[in-house]
Amino acid sequence: MTRVAFIGLGRMGHGMAGRYLEAGFTVSVWNRSKAKAEDLIARGARWATSPEDAAIDADAVVTMVADDNASREVWLSKEGAAATMKAGTVAIECSTISYRHALELARELRSRGLVYIDSPVTGLPDAAASGKLTMLVGAEPADLEKARPYLVPLSSAIRHFGPVGSGTVFKLINNLMGAIQIAGIAEGLAIAEQAGLDMKLVLEAIENGVAASPQVLRHSKRMVARNFSGATFTAALRHKDAAYAVALAEGLLSDTPLMGRAAVEAYERAKAHAPDDDEGKMIEIVSRAKA
Ligand code: NAP
Repeated sequence: MTRVAFIGLGRMGHGMAGRYLEAGFTVSVWNRSKAKAEDLIARGARWATSPEDAAIDADAVVTMVADDNASREVWLSKEGAAATMKAGTVAIECSTISYRHALELARELRSRGLVYIDSPVTGLPDAAASGKLTMLVGAEPADLEKARPYLVPLSSAIRHFGPVGSGTVFKLINNLMGAIQIAGIAEGLAIAEQAGLDMKLVLEAIENGVAASPQVLRHSKRMVARNFSGATFTAALRHKDAAYAVALAEGLLSDTPLMGRAAVEAYERAKAHAPDDDEGKMIEIVSRAKA
């Protein structure tokens, strides 16, 4: 049986680990806090005492953690997965990390003979739990083929952008554009509210107009209703992604990434307001009326 170690059982990782169990893999799991693993253990996963322990005998190690620091911790620390992975084992980083860290991690893991691909994802936690994520892959073609059996249970689409790091580049620009859109719709709606427009009509007009993207449609309704239940993507994560994207832009573009910087500043404020709440609470930041 194919053995997978899955590390990081947050909103996304928990559902992804469950997909491997459903697909009949032998699964070992580790999370910083064990409580999130309990039902996976009940469904047949082996609880590992560390990432290093999870990776013993694994054919592939898949990680889904918050950010660069968490990624460094679970792969490269003293108790990190790399400590016990055998040469030729597949290493798949699904977390959204910075481009710089993706390249450093690739260099470090490859120097140990491991097969590394970056594969951040798009899709919300419900897509993670139902195997409908889109995998954004950066890998050598031969390495992607080695990793493919571990991507298939998680996804409805696998998009290969090029060498290691390129999946992360796409993920970061995608989420930067999302950050700009969400901050933009919050600002537009706040202006409409303060100007006294009929917000039902505003929503109808947005829905049928050219500014509507799936992102705008989803967030505009929730923002007008001030309904932020079932937080799927937090202000802290959105801020992290926008900041990583701006760092990437600064290395590539001669001009300051104006929109990106504005989005990072907006999400700095949203994060200070409610880091673990839904990113849509941006409307609460921008909707305060002039005194
Ligand atoms: P989450 O629910 O906050 O989970 C974060 C995970 O990272 C948890 O398992 C957490 O452990 C772990 N973690 C944080 N700091 C750590 C550290 N220093 N050492 C070890 N583990 C650490 O976040 P999520 O929504 O699942 O997101 C996970 C990743 O997916 C992020 O990179 C995010 O940007 C990306 N993503 C999210 C979505 C979404 O809709 N939520 C969509 C696409 C991509 P504890 O449980 O112990 O805190």
